[in-house]
Amino acid sequence: MALPKIAIIGTGGTISGVGRDRLDFYEYGTSGRFMKVDELIAGVPELPRVAEIVSIPYKNVGSTEIGPADWLALVGIIHETAAADPTIAGFVITHGTATLEETAYFLNLAVKVPSPVVVVGAMRPSSALGADGGLNLLNACRVAGCPQARGMGVMVVLNDEINAARDVAKTSNYRVHTFISRDFGLLGYADADRVQFYRKPLRRAAPDTEFDVSGLKALPRVDIIPAYAGADATLVEAVVKAGAKGIISAGFPSGSPSPAQKKALVQAAESGVAVVQSSRSGSGRVIDDKVALRDAGFVAADSLTAQKARILLMLALTVTSDRDDLRRIFDEY
Ligand code: ASP
Repeated sequence: MALPKIAIIGTGGTISGVGRDRLDFYEYGTSGRFMKVDELIAGVPELPRVAEIVSIPYKNVGSTEIGPADWLALVGIIHETAAADPTIAGFVITHGTATLEETAYFLNLAVKVPSPVVVVGAMRPSSALGADGGLNLLNACRVAGCPQARGMGVMVVLNDEINAARDVAKTSNYRVHTFISRDFGLLGYADADRVQFYRKPLRRAAPDTEFDVSGLKALPRVDIIPAYAGADATLVEAVVKAGAKGIISAGFPSGSPSPAQKKALVQAAESGVAVVQSSRSGSGRVIDDKVALRDAGFVAADSLTAQKARILLMLALTVTSDRDDLRRIFDEY
């Protein structure tokens, strides 16, 4: 049987990081040395046993440098590559873990091709003792080439586990078991014998979304305001002054800003800024409370973390600024 053709797009990150020696587990970050995507692929000589690989170099950076311009570029690369070669069965993006969940969720909302897209990283640099990147990359290619992966939206694969881009978060600074979908659980496993799925996400995801980013050069500015005891209005006022079209309030659990932040956020909402209320807990829903949220002009983030709510709001603001429509979007995605 012919092997699936998988395009691997390299962006850098620890998965391609090169340290001083085998015990360099954290200082490699400052060396700025990364393997090119072709070297990364060559470092896993078993890859041709699971897929026919096409490599696409994009960048070689730590993912703290990846942002909205890269998200738009990556969607463009996926669309152009799929159009130029319809035999490509799936896409794998190698990425630093710091912002991996953000890139994955953006792609989950903006990619229009039906082939599976998997974002993969590693917690240990390629040069380290016990490096996890090689197996993660192999597993990502197995998942991207697997027919059952269609219709799952964009996925994140590390540590043999397959998670949905919407639900997954990096939960630990150094452990290899860091990517966890706290509230909803993983989708399946990339086990030694086969790729096995157990569930399918219900929220709208690629390629069935209403967001078309082709031709967009930038996204609307959306900032995140964290709640902390005694927080005043300074940060809210600053982002409004900076031109924010939207604000995510990462509130005290179960979802409220400090009193001073609330006053400033209500004013921002009255002036036309879209305000979405999330919670800093990283777990559970923010409820669309009539008095606390609706009457204040706020939209509930549902179960999205602040960083994911920001991405959904950035895309939502490309199609609407109507509050009820924004509420529908946060209910559907
Ligand atoms: N600093 C790294 C990055 O996000 C962390 C990693 O890749 O694990 O690029």
